[in-house]
Amino acid sequence: MKRRDFFTKVLITGGGLTLGMGCKRRIEPSSAEKSGTIIPVIESHGRTIREPERLIPILAETDVLIIGGGPAGAAAAIAASRTGAETYLVERYNHLGGLWTGGLVLPLLSTHGADKQKRRKQVIFGIGGEMSKRLVDLGMSIHEESPVVDPEAAKYVLEEMIRESGVKMLYHTWGANVIMDGNVIKGVYIESKSGRMAILTKVVIDCTGDGDIFHMAGENYDVMQYAIGLVHRLGNIDRIKTDKPGYVKMNTGGPTPIPGVNWVNMWGRENQDALDIENLSQLQSDYRMEIWNNVQKIRQTPGHEEVFLLDTASQIGVRMSRILDGEYRLTLEDSMTYRSFDDVIGLSGSWTPVLYKGKKIPSSKRPFWQIPYRSLLPKLTENLLVAGRCFCFERELVEDGRIIGTCLVTGHGAGTAAGLAVKNNSSVKDIDIKELKKVLIQQGAFLG
Ligand SMILES: Cc1cc2nc3c(=O)[nH]c(=O)nc-3n(C[C@H](O)[C@H](O)[C@H](O)COP(=O)(O)OP(=O)(O)OC[C@H]3O[C@@H](n4cnc5c(N)ncnc54)[C@H](O)[C@@H]3O)c2cc1C
Repeated sequence: MKRRDFFTKVLITGGGLTLGMGCKRRIEPSSAEKSGTIIPVIESHGRTIREPERLIPILAETDVLIIGGGPAGAAAAIAASRTGAETYLVERYNHLGGLWTGGLVLPLLSTHGADKQKRRKQVIFGIGGEMSKRLVDLGMSIHEESPVVDPEAAKYVLEEMIRESGVKMLYHTWGANVIMDGNVIKGVYIESKSGRMAILTKVVIDCTGDGDIFHMAGENYDVMQYAIGLVHRLGNIDRIKTDKPGYVKMNTGGPTPIPGVNWVNMWGRENQDALDIENLSQLQSDYRMEIWNNVQKIRQTPGHEEVFLLDTASQIGVRMSRILDGEYRLTLEDSMTYRSFDDVIGLSGSWTPVLYKGKKIPSSKRPFWQIPYRSLLPKLTENLLVAGRCFCFERELVEDGRIIGTCLVTGHGAGTAAGLAVKNNSSVKDIDIKELKKVLIQQGAFLG
């Protein structure tokens, strides 16, 4: 069988991280493939089997189809639907919010950044800002900057906003493959308990976090191996007795809006391949054992007897995998120099210190930074946008590019752009940027 898809893996060390970068090159489709469906074949396991051809029912035909209901996907779906476009959102699990909720990654970081006078200012507005405000109104958010939220409240708020905006939601459904016609995605095959089906669409937004859709569409990308963790929560933190003889302080994580409940982050093992299902399964199993055993040790420590394991995240903590090779790769330099873009779709803040030009810059002094529309645009596919942690940025910007605040902003921008492309019958590559910015501002976005 002809090999259509290959990776060249090299190891690059930068900024104290060891990154596995892979690069995928698109091979021109054959004439037979151009006239029909392209099915990318990955020969990573050496042996393959041919699936028999079959007829697939078409579930729906829509304007905008979003795969992945994390922070980026939920924001994108709400934004697209608010422009009047018929919008479907496909999510493999039973809730919205992705790692923010199902991953128990509760702090919405990067809500603020420093302006040119070095004053910290809020920059996450628009749909992400609305989600955040609703969580504050419910009393389910603590801290003004980079708020920590309750995961069930966040699932509820996102659900409420999706319902209000009229998005057609499909849970328990995987985006399984793309239906290509040359450089256009005609639709996506989905897999669920109802079997394999197709949704046909005018525009697709890849919000899978892992770039599943742009991979299947044959875009070029890098693969970044990074630390994978598993977050958990502890209960009865308010019943820890610090005056008990033999008490020693244990790591019991940080507070959440629910009194007595803490969330415990896990950096996890470095340089993990998030696209290797056997690796993910092994990590899942190891982390479950580690967390349980660690909580038992905490419970055996004087003063901590009533602490208990409330839950472990239903989504394993994949920080990075595929990163799009898009029309523009956002750089750390852009984020440190207030670089302004004509096609800005929103701003993100900063939450972590960075090494910049040999100096450590504290998070409090780091600027807010603009995100250009071009960094959401793949180079090859005509009707695809990418939002969330796999949009196009350089690895030095990874700690900011993958953060929830940034994902919400890219989702909002991509969703509105997709809706406008449908309304004006144009390609997402040729949309009127002035109109996009005008509508984003009308939708409450902050463009600087
Ligand atoms: C351990 C850990 C700690 C972190 N800490 C923080 C923090 O404190 N603050 C912060 O701001 N950020 C943090 N992050 C980063 C942040 O949580 C994520 O990068 C962010 O949630 C990414 O948003 P997203 O929408 O791009 O993707 P995700 O949140 O990953 O959502 C993607 C969604 O798509 C769905 N999906 C994927 N593939 C398919 C498919 N083929 N078909 C259907 N559905 C699919 C998934 O089920 C998921 O719901 C952390 C990440 C990790 C792993």
